[in-house]
Amino acid sequence: MNEFRADLHCHTNCSDGTATPQEIIDLACSIGLKGLSITDHDTLDAYDVAIPAAKKKNLLLISGIELSTTHRNNSVHILGYSFSLDSPVLRDFCAQHLQRRLQRAQMILDLLAKHHMPIDFSELSGTTIGRPHIAMAMVKKGYVNSLQEAFHSYLGEEKSCYVPSSSATTEETINLIHQAGGLAVIAHPHLIDDTSILRDLLEMPFDGIEGYYGRFYAHQQERWVKIGQYRKWLITGGSDFHGTIKPTLALGSSWVNEETFNILYQHFKSHNP
Ligand code: AMP
Ligand code: ZN
Ligand code: FE
Ligand code: FE
Repeated sequence: MNEFRADLHCHTNCSDGTATPQEIIDLACSIGLKGLSITDHDTLDAYDVAIPAAKKKNLLLISGIELSTTHRNNSVHILGYSFSLDSPVLRDFCAQHLQRRLQRAQMILDLLAKHHMPIDFSELSGTTIGRPHIAMAMVKKGYVNSLQEAFHSYLGEEKSCYVPSSSATTEETINLIHQAGGLAVIAHPHLIDDTSILRDLLEMPFDGIEGYYGRFYAHQQERWVKIGQYRKWLITGGSDFHGTIKPTLALGSSWVNEETFNILYQHFKSHNP
């Protein structure tokens, strides 16, 4: 396929995906993607390997990240794009997030132990630990049969072993992405089920909204695209690929065209000379 396609949302094993940065670059090229952004949760670690790997294969790669934020006690994911990869404020923020994630993972393990499901920290694989890593360890130990069951019974919001992930607000986080020279985008807006939260978000200084997403139905896509167009925001898109832990979300299953990608790419180049 010669059509220009760029997937702007995927995760490596630097956060909660299963593919290495090199494997994601190789996979992107093998399925004919021309552009990519890696959006690991709260970390930029993948870019050390991904930048030279993409260059070698002529894949256009732009900086990306997915940050967990809180707005009025609701979890909101923000995608940041095209920021400076050397930004000290963003690097510091990631380091703080990492510390918080490690503390939170230990708190979740303490709760699981109280529910007679002991797991030692050393049994968790990965660096930027999230709930999927804990869910995988629960499956491995035979406490649950699937990741879905782990979330549904224990780790999901308001379940007995849930601990929220972030103390940074949505507005603070948008500001931080802007300070790093980047563009802030509302991730998977269909997951925001409280309409008053959505209304608040639409008044915030975002630059874009994720209008094309792996799991959208056509009518959902149309809704977010229209909202984005009305605000004169960028309409971004991507698969939210996580590798084998979420086999239904294939890399390249959602993408943006050359025109949209070029806006982000030019922005990226101007902040990463
Ligand atoms: P965390 O950043 O630790 O809060 O974990 C968020 C990750 O957990 C995201 O990648 C979500 O897609 C994943 N997740 C959230 N809810 C579920 C669920 N019910 N089943 C499987 N994965 C989930
Ligand atoms: Zn994830
Ligand atoms: Fe997300
Ligand atoms: Fe994601």
